[in-house]
Amino acid sequence: MVKNYLCPLMESFEELNVSRQLLNAIEDLGFKKPTPIQEEAYPVVMSGTNIVGIAQTGTGKTLAYMLPILQEIKFSKDYKPTVIILVPTRELVVQVVEQIELFTKYMSTRVLGVFGGVNIKTQMGVLTQGVDIVVGTPGRLYDLAINRSLLLQNVKKLVIDEVDVMLDLGFRFQLNNIFELLPTKRQNIMFSATMTNDVEILINDNFIDPKQIAIALSGTPLDNISQSKYPVENFYTKVNLLIHLLKDKETYTKILVFIDSKKNADRLFEALEQDFWNELGVIHSNKSQNNRMATIERFNDNNSRILIATDVIARGLDLDDISHVFNFDTPKFPENYMHRIGRTGRAEKKGESVLFYTENEEKWTTSIEELMDYIIPPNDFPNEVVISKQLTLDEQPRILENNLLKKTTRVAGPSFHEKKDKNKKTTNVGGGQKIKLKKAKKYKKPITRGSKQMNQKKRK
Ligand code: AMP
Repeated sequence: MVKNYLCPLMESFEELNVSRQLLNAIEDLGFKKPTPIQEEAYPVVMSGTNIVGIAQTGTGKTLAYMLPILQEIKFSKDYKPTVIILVPTRELVVQVVEQIELFTKYMSTRVLGVFGGVNIKTQMGVLTQGVDIVVGTPGRLYDLAINRSLLLQNVKKLVIDEVDVMLDLGFRFQLNNIFELLPTKRQNIMFSATMTNDVEILINDNFIDPKQIAIALSGTPLDNISQSKYPVENFYTKVNLLIHLLKDKETYTKILVFIDSKKNADRLFEALEQDFWNELGVIHSNKSQNNRMATIERFNDNNSRILIATDVIARGLDLDDISHVFNFDTPKFPENYMHRIGRTGRAEKKGESVLFYTENEEKWTTSIEELMDYIIPPNDFPNEVVISKQLTLDEQPRILENNLLKKTTRVAGPSFHEKKDKNKKTTNVGGGQKIKLKKAKKYKKPITRGSKQMNQKKRK
């Protein structure tokens, strides 16, 4: 496999000439040497120039921007912050604050995380006592600046982390509002996993001549992630295959299952609930903040083994020691596949990625392989896994009639991958009638031939 990193030269953090306090904190964390992005970013951030770092989560990018910032930060009694870090999600605020607290264990740096959905007065109270670094989501940070609890005139450094996700979530307007409140003489430090058109526009519109550093070569899989793929008939056959694999608890110890939409994330959760109810979690942006945080905590504390997540919500989360990433569907944009698999095999640990793809998704699998210049090794479809004939509404063939889009009956087409005759059962593994009816009610979709009437009634 192609090498991921361009210049892993340094053997220790001492070579960066960082302070003893920082070195001790890093030593406590057990980090032996800088990751390539840390090594690359350090002199550029120290030089004070604007910088755009293209780096995926998992490459150590947080310390890459924090290390030079903390090296330079001065002890201050002023209550106004000098560093602002903008991140797209509340979860990431918590995570970045936690990391900064670890890095500043032997320093007197004051850091505060601010995000919406919690009482603004508490955050206002902390701000009046004085902070050096504020980490926040754009909306709440702007509110605090507008009500003048957060004074921005001392800001010397602005970090925007996960710029691509930020723009994906529609924060462009809030970012521009914040830029207007900041002193023009400041250093801008941006990190993004991908360089999209939107990211380029934001940079060109707002920042003068940023130096770009890139470590992870676009489309280059990490060395320590082994990949495989299964051709699978349809959604519910994917469910059956996933259940079959995840029953092997010794192999599949900590699982992140990526899925394209909130609706499908909930649908998958329901389908897995019966077999894995006490070891399963799901996060997406329709879940409340408390619910998301509790789910992530349970997963990170190893109190649940399987986490289902949509792409946007999972990006930027610090999820440790993922043994396997499952791509329940194939991403349309190959870069998203790179993001997904980058959630395992982090910080030099081994990880595995498994891709499920239907016949319709085969073209996207090919694009991913072209991007990586690597054919993902195919797995044999296990004989004991039942091929489901049950189709989701999205999978049902459609016919256009009198300008109305109608769904036809739910019979699946010929098998994408044929199985031996003895294995051609058409029932769903583990799906009791009660569960099926519950699902049918929830998703207004036919579950069995017998439930057709009910579904017709529901769809009226
Ligand atoms: P990040 O890309 O910032 O999300 O970091 C990914 C993970 O790598 C985090 O859990 C960090 O604690 C860890 N990490 C960061 N820098 C290093 C390093 N130099 N050596 C080992 N692990 C690191």
